Amino acid sequence: MLEAIQIDGADTSLEEEALQELDDDLQGELIRPTDEGYEQARKVWNGMIDRYPALIVRCADTDDVVRAVRFARQHNLLTAVRGGGHNVAGHGTQDGALVIDLSPMREVSVDADYRTVQAQGGATLGDVDAASQERGLAVPLGVVSKTGIAGLTLVGGLGWLRNRYGLTVDSLLEAEMVTADGQVVIANKDSNADLLWGLQGGGGNFGVVTKFTYQAYPVGPDVFFMMVFYSAENDREVLRAFRDFVAQAPDRVTLLADLGMFPEGSEFPEELQGTAFTALAGLYAGLAGDGERAMAPLRGIAEPLMDISGPMEYVEVQRLFDADYPDGSRYYWKSTNLMELTDAGIDRLLEHTRKQPSQRSTVDLWPLGGAVKRVPKDATAFFGREAAYVLNPEANWADPADDQVNIQWVRDLIESMEEFSDGGRYLNFQGFQEEGDAMMEAAFGASYARLAELKRKYDPDNFFRLNQNIKPAS
Ligand SMILES: Cc1cc2nc3c(=O)[nH]c(=O)nc-3n(C[C@H](O)[C@H](O)[C@H](O)COP(=O)(O)OP(=O)(O)OC[C@H]3O[C@@H](n4cnc5c(N)ncnc54)[C@H](O)[C@@H]3O)c2cc1C
Repeated sequence: MLEAIQIDGADTSLEEEALQELDDDLQGELIRPTDEGYEQARKVWNGMIDRYPALIVRCADTDDVVRAVRFARQHNLLTAVRGGGHNVAGHGTQDGALVIDLSPMREVSVDADYRTVQAQGGATLGDVDAASQERGLAVPLGVVSKTGIAGLTLVGGLGWLRNRYGLTVDSLLEAEMVTADGQVVIANKDSNADLLWGLQGGGGNFGVVTKFTYQAYPVGPDVFFMMVFYSAENDREVLRAFRDFVAQAPDRVTLLADLGMFPEGSEFPEELQGTAFTALAGLYAGLAGDGERAMAPLRGIAEPLMDISGPMEYVEVQRLFDADYPDGSRYYWKSTNLMELTDAGIDRLLEHTRKQPSQRSTVDLWPLGGAVKRVPKDATAFFGREAAYVLNPEANWADPADDQVNIQWVRDLIESMEEFSDGGRYLNFQGFQEEGDAMMEAAFGASYARLAELKRKYDPDNFFRLNQNIKPAS
């Protein structure tokens, strides 16, 4: 017998015979708490999330996902779905739950003629980038290669190609998905178009996506990447110049401002360690020489502390920040959508940013422009295109004794900036979603009702509930 938790929170026991039958049917692996691989398999990226699921089904293919969903439904089990395991809130696991783990499903295939890329639901950004770049293509994804495409795609996808080619959801052409009753459906613009719309920002609410098909674009192999670090003494002028540049930047330029500190004991030059900075980073989607010219004004705002800009392989850019986010460290991130970046907003932001308790924490400003803005607001379920910036404080620290002070820093910063926001959030950077349904409704605004209807159609019992959850319309 194995103890587990049902979807309504009640305890249940699973018979050995039923478990054995599931195990025999799977191409992949069934991992139980007594198995040798359990300790490793239960871990997710965020060390704040320390959960003990009852069962982990490591799926080898779509049929395994169907088997796992049907088993969970038959036994009414609380069920989590895990792609790359990098959800900040830890939605990919739960105590006592059955985890449908797609991490073995990482195949990627590229059709260079049609410029499309198909990837299995457990692929990482790095998997997709590597295969796409072999054919001179790239899919607009995020900026850290170890993260999963699934959680990123289903909620939005902010990366270095967004102003040129849009969010990840804007490139999603088709999905193969296992529904809450264990059926396989295809969603594209001709078939189940309502579902495709929902998967373009509505999260893991509707089913388990086993394959994503994306539009890809010619990028690289070399691109111009800018990363210039200014002293905090120049904070105000740097952020004002950044804002003014963003307002007229060509679509080929996608930027990020990153406020932080050079951590002591890091690989940065010793004389800089412990110093606060504002870094401006950006990718030019075009010829490297054009990129260098286009971004030159941002590299001469003041005397930089360090400038590592230059032509770089696209895949290298995509891996540049990987080391900043080690597995198992402690993380609490939040976001709010800024409708504009005023001088008063900059001053407020700096006041709170510079109180950061951990030297490894950063505050990111992601401008949204170009292709992101050209997609009509209701064309996808992603609901934040009208924002000028996504503001994203990231508390990153190591010692559990520092949990509270770091979490509070993020909460205070967000609260202090709410007057510059319309209440929208990027739901992949949303703490532990402790604000619940009210925050979800605010984040989806006018699209919430349509999403709740879609949820009722595909998952009326809210079987897929461990996610950025949308309750089925009643
Ligand atoms: C280091 C780091 C860098 C990041 N950088 C960016 C960035 O540049 N841009 C950006 O937009 N976001 C970024 N994010 C946020 C990231 O997009 C989310 O954390 C996302 O949830 C990660 O997806 P995952 O598949 O790894 O997560 P998981 O923890 O595996 O899954 C998260 C949730 O997604 C859903 N899900 C996962 N797989 C499936 C599936 N196959 N079918 C249906 N639902 C599924 C489930 O609801 C699950 O609970 C970053 C996160 C980290 C940790």
